[in-house]
Amino acid sequence: GATIGILGGGQLGRMLSVAASRLGFKTHVFEPGANPPAGHVSDQVTTAAYDDAEALERFAQAVDVITYEFENIPTEALDLLEAHKPIRPGREALRVSQDRLTEKTFLQGLGLKTAPFADITDLDSLTAAIAEIGTPAILKTRRFGYDGKGQSRLKSPEDAETALADMAGAPAILEGFVDFSHEVSVIAARSPSGEVACFDPGENVHRDGILHTTTVPARLSAAQRMDAVLLAANILNALDYVGVMGVELFVTSQGLIVNEIAPRVHNSGHWTQNGCAVDQFEQHIRAVAGWALGDGQRHSDVVMENLIGDDVNRIPELAKDRDTAIHLYGKAETKAGRKMGHVNRIQRQG
Ligand code: ATP
Ligand code: MG
Ligand code: MG
Repeated sequence: GATIGILGGGQLGRMLSVAASRLGFKTHVFEPGANPPAGHVSDQVTTAAYDDAEALERFAQAVDVITYEFENIPTEALDLLEAHKPIRPGREALRVSQDRLTEKTFLQGLGLKTAPFADITDLDSLTAAIAEIGTPAILKTRRFGYDGKGQSRLKSPEDAETALADMAGAPAILEGFVDFSHEVSVIAARSPSGEVACFDPGENVHRDGILHTTTVPARLSAAQRMDAVLLAANILNALDYVGVMGVELFVTSQGLIVNEIAPRVHNSGHWTQNGCAVDQFEQHIRAVAGWALGDGQRHSDVVMENLIGDDVNRIPELAKDRDTAIHLYGKAETKAGRKMGHVNRIQRQG
C-alpha cells in the first residue's frame, strides 16, 4: 500500500495518522521533537531537524505523498522534499498562510473582507498605522504566531512603544480591532479534481487566546451560513488547494470578516469526529490521496471542548457522561496551556 508522509508529530499529526491507517495507508511521521504524540500511532517516525537535508531526503524517498500538520515548515525543507514527492496542500497555500501580511493581502485580492491592516517595521510605521487604523488595535508578528502568542493589544496610541517591544524585533502587522458578535470557522476540503466539501460552520469561543469550545450548529442565518461556505470555497479554489483548510471568521453587522486561514486540519474541526460520518482527518487523507471526498453533512449537534493543562484531570468525571466522546493525545507531560486532549459532547434532542 501507499505511504503517507506527515510533517509534524503533534496531536493533529496523530489524528491524521490514525485516519490514514484506518484507510489502509502506512504512515511515516517526520518530527524534530522526541516522543511525539503521533509516534505511537504511526508505522514509522523520523526524528530529525528541518535543516537535516539527508534525513529529509530519506523521508521523502520512503513516502508516496507528503502532507503536514502545521504551516511553518522552512522553505528550504519544502524545496528539498518537493524535489522528490508531491506536497499536499501545495506550496502556494503555504506561502500565503505562513505570513499574516501575504495572507491578508491575498484575501483582500479575492474581494474578501479582513480587518484593516498595515505592515509594521518600526515605531514610525506603527505611529502612521495607528493614525490611519485607530485604536483599539492588535499588533501581531507576521510569522509563527499561534494560540494568541506573538500578539499585543493597543488600547490607545500611547501603547505603541510597549506593543512594539513585545514583538522583540520580529516583522509585524497592525490590525484594527474588529467589533464582532461572535467567531465561527469553516472547515473546508478540496480534492485534486476540484471537488469542494465544507463542514457545517462551528462557533468558536477562546479563553486566554486558546480555543476553548466549538459549538455546532453556530449562530448564523441561512444567508450567513451560505456566505461562509461560499467564501471558503472561493479561497480553496483560488489556491488550487488539495486537503482540508480551516477558515476563521468574525461575524459582524457588516457581514463576515476573514480572520485567518490555516492550510491543515484545524482544532475547530475536531467536532467532526463525532458529528459527521467522515471527519476532517479522514477528509484530509482522502483529498491528499486523491480519493473522492466524503460528505460534510452533520448528523448531530456537538460541543467540542479542549482539555488544556490540568483540565485533563477531569477525565474520570467526564467519562461518566455517556454522550461524551473522549480524545486524548498521549502527551507525556501535562503543562499549563498545553492541549492535552478534547471531548466531543453529543447534544441529544428531547
Ligand atoms: P490560532 O491559534 O487560531 O492560530 P493565532 O495566534 O493565529 O490563533 P488569531 O486567530 O489571529 O491568533 O487571534 C486569536 C484571537 O484573538 C481571535 O480568535 C480573536 O478572538 C482575537 N482577535 C484576533 N485578531 C483580532 C482582530 N483584528 N479584532 C478582534 N479580535 C481579534
Ligand atoms: Mg493562527
Ligand atoms: Mg486564529
